[in-house]
Amino acid sequence: MGAILNLVERNLHEVQVDADRMLFHIPSSSLFASDALTGSIIDALRGPGCTPEDLIQQLAGAYDSTDVSDTLRELMALELVSDGSLLTPEIGVKRVERTAINTVVLNVNTGCNLSCTYCYKEDLDKPSAGKKMGLDTAIASVEMLLQESPDEERYTVVFFGGEPLSNRPLIEAMVDYCEQRFAAAGKFVEFVMTTNATLLTEEIIDYLNAHRFGLSVSIDGPKTVHDRNRITVGGQGTYDVVRRKAQMLLSRYHSRPVGARVTLTTGVTDVETIWDHLFNELGFAEVGFAPVTSGDISSFNLSSEELIEVFASMKRLGRRYLDAALEHRNIGFSNLHQLITDIHEGHKKALPCGAGLKMLAVDHKGELNLCHRFTGSSLPTFGNVHDGGVKQVELNDFLSQRLDRTHTGCDSCRIRNLCSGGCYHESYARYGDPAHPTYHYCELMRDWVDFGIEVYSRIMAHNPAFISTYITPRKAH
Ligand code: SF4
Ligand code: SF4
Repeated sequence: MGAILNLVERNLHEVQVDADRMLFHIPSSSLFASDALTGSIIDALRGPGCTPEDLIQQLAGAYDSTDVSDTLRELMALELVSDGSLLTPEIGVKRVERTAINTVVLNVNTGCNLSCTYCYKEDLDKPSAGKKMGLDTAIASVEMLLQESPDEERYTVVFFGGEPLSNRPLIEAMVDYCEQRFAAAGKFVEFVMTTNATLLTEEIIDYLNAHRFGLSVSIDGPKTVHDRNRITVGGQGTYDVVRRKAQMLLSRYHSRPVGARVTLTTGVTDVETIWDHLFNELGFAEVGFAPVTSGDISSFNLSSEELIEVFASMKRLGRRYLDAALEHRNIGFSNLHQLITDIHEGHKKALPCGAGLKMLAVDHKGELNLCHRFTGSSLPTFGNVHDGGVKQVELNDFLSQRLDRTHTGCDSCRIRNLCSGGCYHESYARYGDPAHPTYHYCELMRDWVDFGIEVYSRIMAHNPAFISTYITPRKAH
């Protein structure tokens, strides 16, 4: 008599796509189409368990016993079916012991030439009061990167602000320094910057183009939407100037695709119209949306009802992404494109993002923060580039807290290996504790992932070449 078999519900999530039963293997974030036999085994094991012999007997009218045994073995190897043996711990390590940081964010100026009403930056200053990072601090940050992680092949230096172009001399000095330093070390370095576009000139664009910057422009949509919040220090809307500069950028910049980053705050939920404007009218290659739910100024946060509308609008845009994908076109909806990439590559995230793990952000004093959103916050920093570098023990203590999902809602959540508790800064802003999971829109996130599974399944069924053209090549960069 064999052991009693049971379905491991915590590892399995099913999404029905037309006639297909898609099985989402939660531990590895991978997707399989279930064949009829697999479906029959799952159905037979739902409810009270049974022995392998009982199962073979139950299915004997429809399936050969060897096929049942083989499929059962595969399901047991995936730990979707268990005979009561202990399951493999999903997160192999209990503690983060070493972090291979390959990205440093330089907060080159706390000052910004704009005065966007909702700006989350903890250390944002008016232009005249901006604290600029010195060259010594920027160089020490890059040296810290090479010293902490000498064995990486590729490194990224991110210029962040305030408005980074308001400290252009530092950016240019660092590009010179890094290009020589990394080439001498036989390594590759890339530069990334998010800008409000207002300070761009033809000369600056050509410079950025020559050094292949990865660029994102902060722009919130059509004039009526953008000018609600993205205003000058004097209170004027900035849409007209940003549009003009963005068009100049898009017409001259050829080294890489340029993205738009949209911040969604209260009263702004129409993702589809915003995308249409930025992608079709202005010509951005991709558009990414950041819904604000836990900003420091709570009056800008989307309400629960608005957040539901944002996700509904994202799904409507997602249907257009799918229709285009089936015609082999990518409409640059970054949020969905990233989710499809995660599902395709089976990303399994023990931690929500690279903050503290692959990336650290440095402020003008050289203090090391989890990411760009923490510079200037009251969260203790994780060392200083001028004084001993990364406080590895403290950093690892912090990351290890999030790694441990015991007694959290995330432990049994079906998207636990895609979400991993959500953004540390959102948690910090909402609960005062960056290690606390962001529970406030879990249901919407789970539904969004189900939607991504459906879109991915349809693309794989009807135009798998879309994945190899638009998704697989990303790995190489
Ligand atoms: S924060 Fe919510 S959605 Fe994310 S893993 Fe935890 S329970 Fe799931
Ligand atoms: S902590 Fe949040 S804001 Fe910072 S890198 Fe992670 S997801 Fe982004």
